[in-house]
Amino acid sequence: MSSAVSDLGAQDLKDLIACPHCDCLHRWQTVPLGATARCSRCHAVLLRPRRGAIATIVSLASAALVLMVAAVSFPFLQVAASGLSSRASVIDAVMAFANASGLMAPLSLIVGALIIVLPVARLVSLIYALGPVAAGRAPRPHAALAFRAAMRLRPWAMAEIFIIGVAVALVKVSDLAAVGFGPAFWAFIGLVLLVAANDVVTCERSIWRVLDKS
Ligand SMILES: [Zn+2]
Repeated sequence: MSSAVSDLGAQDLKDLIACPHCDCLHRWQTVPLGATARCSRCHAVLLRPRRGAIATIVSLASAALVLMVAAVSFPFLQVAASGLSSRASVIDAVMAFANASGLMAPLSLIVGALIIVLPVARLVSLIYALGPVAAGRAPRPHAALAFRAAMRLRPWAMAEIFIIGVAVALVKVSDLAAVGFGPAFWAFIGLVLLVAANDVVTCERSIWRVLDKS
């Protein structure tokens, strides 16, 4: 196996696709728009090019970025009990540990990075890398680097985990106090749905082909 691979030239290697699940190697073939290429061994999806996919990705990422601004700017939750009420924004949630002592203080930094900074960095990278391509122009300098960063950041952008955590906490608090959702909560829900839709539309290998050719 190793000698067979070492005999391959750089161009041959570019024409190979490894299955993301079982590492089975396949030769690159042009897949028609709308069709799906699957691994011959485990049937995992290898390629799923869609018409206008890059423009869709840029549009969804731009909309998600706008919703992120709303999610950070507006109140997230309102809690009322015994005549007292309190509002909290996402920034308040992030800063909740800032004044804590010991090991809790760095949690603010980590929460802020995971639910705001990394998702925003990922969306900006996608728009930077694919925006000009969606408009039919050549990619910007370092577009490949930005797209690679966006793909690598995907597991670390955890806005949806935050929403699940909030939902679980609300179920526990709802017996003790009246809980109301602010505009930021719905903005966050919209953001999570847009990012999920973006991940479904993104066919990473097809986009690499476009970036490599440009
Ligand atoms: Zn496979």
